[in-house]
Amino acid sequence: MTIIPKPTGFMQELYKFKDKEIPEFDPRTGDHYWHIIANWKVDPLVWLKGDSHLDSENLLTITAPCCYYCERFYTPLLAKRRCKGGATSE
Ligand SMILES: [Zn+2]
Repeated sequence: MTIIPKPTGFMQELYKFKDKEIPEFDPRTGDHYWHIIANWKVDPLVWLKGDSHLDSENLLTITAPCCYYCERFYTPLLAKRRCKGGATSE
C-alpha cells in the first residue's frame, strides 16, 4: 500500500456513484469535510458490467485524510482553523 503525500488536484466524474451526499461548503461554519481517497485495480470490462468488487485484494493506494473543500491534508493545526472552502497555496 502506498501513501500519497499530497493532493493531485485532478477531478474525475464518477461512474455510477454520485457525490450528492457531500454537502455544499458552508462559509458560516467553516467546517472541513475530511475524506480519504482509495484506488483499486479493476478490469474495466468487468467493472462496467457491475461485477467488480472493491476489497483489500485489489486495493492499490489510500491517501491520508484530506479536506474535500480546501484540498489540504489533515494536520491537527489545520483542523483547528476554519476551512476556506477552496484550494489555497497557504
Ligand atoms: Zn477544508
